[in-house]
Amino acid sequence: MPCGFLSFADDGTVLEANRALLELCEFDSDQLIGQPIATIFTVASQIFYQTHFFPLLKMKSKAEEIYLTLRTKSGAELPALMNATRNEREGIVRNDCVLLAMHRRSRYEDEILAGKKALDKAHAELITTQQSLQQKQTEVEARNEELETLKEGLEGLVEVRTAELRLAMEDLESFSYAIAHDLRAPLRAIITTSEVLTQDAAPSLAADQRAMLERQSFNARKLANLIEDLLRFARLGREGILRSPVNVSEIATTIIADLSFPAGIKRPTFHVQPGMRGTGDPSLIRIALENLIENAVKYSPGGGEISVGAKTENSERIFFVHDQGIGFDMLYSPKIFLPFERLHTDREFQGSGIGLATVKRIVERHEGQVWAESSPGEGSTFFFTLGS
Ligand code: ADP
Repeated sequence: MPCGFLSFADDGTVLEANRALLELCEFDSDQLIGQPIATIFTVASQIFYQTHFFPLLKMKSKAEEIYLTLRTKSGAELPALMNATRNEREGIVRNDCVLLAMHRRSRYEDEILAGKKALDKAHAELITTQQSLQQKQTEVEARNEELETLKEGLEGLVEVRTAELRLAMEDLESFSYAIAHDLRAPLRAIITTSEVLTQDAAPSLAADQRAMLERQSFNARKLANLIEDLLRFARLGREGILRSPVNVSEIATTIIADLSFPAGIKRPTFHVQPGMRGTGDPSLIRIALENLIENAVKYSPGGGEISVGAKTENSERIFFVHDQGIGFDMLYSPKIFLPFERLHTDREFQGSGIGLATVKRIVERHEGQVWAESSPGEGSTFFFTLGS
């Protein structure tokens, strides 16, 4: 039989035991038969036997699913499940018991218990982690709030400073405008006086005195040109711009037609691409083109060819003025668009250093860009766009 079987009399004496039970309890049959059933029970199970199991069996004639712990001969403890019935055979009352060892089950129970403990521990750890995460989150939220407040403060500060700066710049612009404007009249008087003196008093003056007078006249005229350029530059920031269709080819052609070439200067050959159109402020675009074309002429002392054209790249219209003049080192290209930055001396080429700054300001007011490509002795090309 694949389970233990045991029969005992009402006084507890073991009457029968099958091999499975004997093996389970490590007894030989003669060691168990005739012995009290308590021999195979632990102390706790002996008490349970007397107080519950046997009274129940006696009263109901059967007892089912009774958990007991057996004690083997070597003293090992063995959990077991027992079903018992009370039968009368050959005139003797026998209590027949079937026993199933449960070492696996108790091991599983132990494992389940250990698993549950581990789970409880993990759960507790999870709760702790969640709590610390929550705490971290609260801290982060507090930091974010601080940052937000700081950012708002900074934004406010930037706004205030920008407004202050704008005001200061406007002040400065109107101040320089007023000064430049007021300088014009006395300067014109100096120019006129020195010209009259050069003409009328020249014969009575010594050669070095005459040279001084001519230098004075030259420098006064230079100053007047500079003031005109500055006034024009300053005005660019003040006036609103128009956005209308512009015939760029026509503007370039009229600028070239109005150019005058002093004696001894080689006249370049001009090419203007026909049909170039753009959108912007016609009078500002004229000023920009004037500066670029006049520069192309000025910095091409050997003449050569000057082209005004346009191309389309990435659906953007790019206008350009190209010359075959002296060119410049690209290292300086960001510099030349700043006011008063010149790469050549007055002795080489006269100028005020305002021309390209003016072009840049005009192009930027159109939300476009201006840049140059050049190399010394190889000519230059100035490109510009007019925004969209
Ligand atoms: P200006 O011509 O009055 O000096 P600009 O602002 O027009 O001032 O130009 C700044 C400088 O850029 C010039 O002094 C010159 O050195 C250089 N430059 C401008 N255009 C050309 C050009 N087409 N070829 C070579 N150099 C140029």
